[in-house]
Amino acid sequence: MADKGRPLMRRKEKASAERTKDVQKVKSEGERAVDNGEAPPAEASNGAVDGSQNGESPVEPMELPPFEIIQGDRIDPFAFKFQFKNVEYSSGRNKTFLCYLVDEGQAADGLLRGYLEDEHTGAHAEEAFFTQCLLNYDPALRYTVTWYVSSSPCSACAAKIAEVLKARTNVKLSIFAARLFEWEETEIQVGLKALHATGCKLRVMKPLDFSYTWETFVENEEEPLNLWEDCKENYEFYQEKLADILQ
Ligand SMILES: [Zn+2]
Repeated sequence: MADKGRPLMRRKEKASAERTKDVQKVKSEGERAVDNGEAPPAEASNGAVDGSQNGESPVEPMELPPFEIIQGDRIDPFAFKFQFKNVEYSSGRNKTFLCYLVDEGQAADGLLRGYLEDEHTGAHAEEAFFTQCLLNYDPALRYTVTWYVSSSPCSACAAKIAEVLKARTNVKLSIFAARLFEWEETEIQVGLKALHATGCKLRVMKPLDFSYTWETFVENEEEPLNLWEDCKENYEFYQEKLADILQ
């Protein structure tokens, strides 16, 4: 399965490299000596921000779009099968795919639909959703938002989502997750509970949800999704863990 994820990774690496180039250009104009290439992007951009706060640089790297995020219409089928597989140990799946549907109520022409993909080293897809997909947020509208995510949010994202939902009570969010991310960690459990307390619906994806997501968000070439052998058992495993956490 890992092999099937690679074509996409390659495409992604290329895209990242191009964006990194732009960022590095900006940094060099600001005369910031930030390590090139191998350094974790999050570290690098923090360094650049600190630099501009020292008054040496007119450049504001924070104004750049989050260059770790890919936004798209439909997911590559091989990437979907690898990233959404609800295995217990998510080895090699160091990113989150977030498929979204947004219903803006009566004023809308239809549903907004798409997906986001991140690398965990940069901005996370959950946060990017609010900054990139709800750009024209209008407090007068009522939003019904549904996410199908490859894994449930990390504690930082859970806190951010909870913050947004508390501030924007006109946004109703349901999150369907293929896997629970680090569910044994206390801070993760605290984050999920806090999210649940805001009224956010948290669910583990059932076999039918995988088929729906495949039909709705994947370049499926009209082929049905052949669910993997232990899909239902894995769903039941995660479902039980989530129920324990939220009870
Ligand atoms: Zn996160």
